[in-house]
Amino acid sequence: MMSDHDVQSALTEVESICKQKSIQLTPIRKLAFSLLLTAPNGLKAYELLDKIKLQKSSATPPTAYRALDFLLEHGFAHKISKLNTFVACKHLCHHADTPSFLLICPCCQNVTEYDNESMNHSLIDALAASGFRLMEKEIEITATCPGCLTLGR
Ligand SMILES: [Zn+2]
Ligand SMILES: [Zn+2]
Repeated sequence: MMSDHDVQSALTEVESICKQKSIQLTPIRKLAFSLLLTAPNGLKAYELLDKIKLQKSSATPPTAYRALDFLLEHGFAHKISKLNTFVACKHLCHHADTPSFLLICPCCQNVTEYDNESMNHSLIDALAASGFRLMEKEIEITATCPGCLTLGR
């Protein structure tokens, strides 16, 4: 779980990235992002909507979906198709040409963004060598997390 301080500094960073790229971080987009930051296992769209509603009762499903689209488009969040959830991106901004590996624990459903530059490049290079271009932005890998392994799950 992120501390208040971490959440605050992530928000500040996203604000400055948005300013740099001249994209608009509306209050609702900012709220959606901060809610994802404080949800370590990510949120489903309706869960996000429920949380938005606590602060902005007039919010409707399209409000949540549009905010999520924005966060995904700019690399501030990832969609986990396996779980149908959304998580805040650990790096806040991904290069569009490199994928992110998302490890999903089948026991606790924890999602970990896995950093491995060389795995990243070897995948892209291997596919390129076979004449393919990788289009997947989020590569989901089912892997039991260290915590669950310790518990002998
Ligand atoms: Zn990411
Ligand atoms: Zn686990």
